[in-house]
Amino acid sequence: MPSELLLHRGLVDATGARHRRVSLRPLGGHEEAALAEAVSLDGGAPDERTVHEVLAACIERLGGYRHVTAEHAAALTRGDRQRLALALRGIMLGDPLVLTLRCSSAACGELADLELHVSSLLGGGATEPDPEPQWWAVETPDGVLHVRAPTGADDEACAGLPGGTAQRAGVLWDRLLDVGDPPAAWADLAPVTQQLLARTLADSGTLPDLLFVSACPACGALLELELDPFQLLARELALGADRLLAEVHCLAFHYGWGEEAILALPRPRRWRYLELLRRQLESRPLT
Ligand SMILES: [Zn+2]
Repeated sequence: MPSELLLHRGLVDATGARHRRVSLRPLGGHEEAALAEAVSLDGGAPDERTVHEVLAACIERLGGYRHVTAEHAAALTRGDRQRLALALRGIMLGDPLVLTLRCSSAACGELADLELHVSSLLGGGATEPDPEPQWWAVETPDGVLHVRAPTGADDEACAGLPGGTAQRAGVLWDRLLDVGDPPAAWADLAPVTQQLLARTLADSGTLPDLLFVSACPACGALLELELDPFQLLARELALGADRLLAEVHCLAFHYGWGEEAILALPRPRRWRYLELLRRQLESRPLT
């Protein structure tokens, strides 16, 4: 898997310049453990703050930014963040991805494997995508309104709010609308306007297409799966959490290093030391 990725919107700095090209690096043991821990409690998706920190840790460079913070990662769109998570999954665990779906028919319940490749989920084509608009202008019965794609910061701000899903969606939409004169509030817009705005974002291609449909091999029923890249990555890393602990134990035992120092190593380096150790213990040449 290449460790370079071109984001669709990227980061827009104070001068309006775009920063889209990303160099990724594998996560260190600390972030691996944090991500695994964030989902181990309920098996759901990790919280937004953990995601910001994980993304900041895996971005070596973003356009002109050589030091990417959690705040930079939070300012990226949902779509760009999902692409980053997929690319990270690719460099940590490889390109092939097998998902297992259970048939939803009560009489069947058969398991079906869906074989995917991270590179093709990322678009994989030779052509580079044009930069995504920062704003979409939408003609509506309430006038021309400007709407933008939601970012990690938007999702974080709405995640902790009290109230139901509809209330939280209203707060999110208020953040996404460029307030005109007179200011437009989501709740005051006509239902047809709300639909037009929602459809504009849905059709904009800002999100990668991660909805898969497959036929059950036993009964032919159609199975649907929507992939959440962060949940996937976190679950896969959580499965490896016991192994990570064993690796720390092994390196600490033989080299005498502390847990902190071992967790700070990126996975490929940790594995190289383990391989050297194995050769040493088997009395084989080290190189
Ligand atoms: Zn079935």
